[in-house]
Amino acid sequence: MQTITTATELRHALAEARRRGKRIGFVPTMGYLHDGHLALVNASRARSDLTIVSIFVNPTQFGANEDLSSYPRNFLRDETLCREAGVTIVFAPDTQEVYPAGFQTVVEPGELAEPLCGAFRPGHFRGVATVVCKLFNMVQPDVAFFGQKDFQQCTVIRRMTADLNFPIEIVIVPTVREADGLAMSSRNRYLHAQERQQAVAISRGLLAAADEFRSGERDVSKLVATAKEHFAEIDQLQYLELVDAETLKPAASPLQRPAALCLAAYVGSTRLIDNVIMSFPSPLLGSST
Ligand code: AMP
Repeated sequence: MQTITTATELRHALAEARRRGKRIGFVPTMGYLHDGHLALVNASRARSDLTIVSIFVNPTQFGANEDLSSYPRNFLRDETLCREAGVTIVFAPDTQEVYPAGFQTVVEPGELAEPLCGAFRPGHFRGVATVVCKLFNMVQPDVAFFGQKDFQQCTVIRRMTADLNFPIEIVIVPTVREADGLAMSSRNRYLHAQERQQAVAISRGLLAAADEFRSGERDVSKLVATAKEHFAEIDQLQYLELVDAETLKPAASPLQRPAALCLAAYVGSTRLIDNVIMSFPSPLLGSST
């Protein structure tokens, strides 16, 4: 496994593989890797000849009062995990490499970036779309892997990839959860023991609603109410919305199209997000949650 820090070096390292027609898989991350990230790596290894993992804590997707400076980092551990997982190249540019002095061009996503997290994190998806666009240009992968856990991000990236004509297949990998259901996240390490216990209510609520959907319930307010029953101990529910899985607009009741029940909540001072997909006979994802 190689670790590379500049786009030029990366281009050279990939030139030969590209000439030989190798399929390049790409997993963008902000590091502090866990089994959710490694599921993306495994999906890439299954579908590509080479897997590139980027590790870059992207400053432009953090708001002024968010956790950019405290975001967890452990590069050596990440490198070891990548090596053990069969990653070909870790691409770890510094901020200067991604945003050189004078940088001023951004990718502005459209309506998909407005609801849900977009309403509470102004500029977040502009930062995400911009960095993913830049990383796509640096890596030039054939296929890129994103986690369902960040469902709105998946829809924004899918749209951007189509809108900007990237010849890149986008694969969405189902959310990987802890044994008790909590969606894995680098931010889970912020949770104190008691908060960690409270946080499990999030997945309990969402998975209960998904179960109810599987049992045939199609009424939007009933499904949302089922999830909400579990959230008594959650400090602050930022949003809980059942949205159309393609447009992210509020889902019409009764449900007749794939939908996503999406949530953001504070547990203590930690903001967590999660979602479940409610899909009809042809599932939207490789597997439903
Ligand atoms: P992050 O490092 O948090 O920016 O995440 C990098 C990629 O890993 C994104 O595509 C995330 O959606 C994905 N990811 C993060 N957590 C999980 C999880 N629990 N299950 C599946 N994918 C995840």
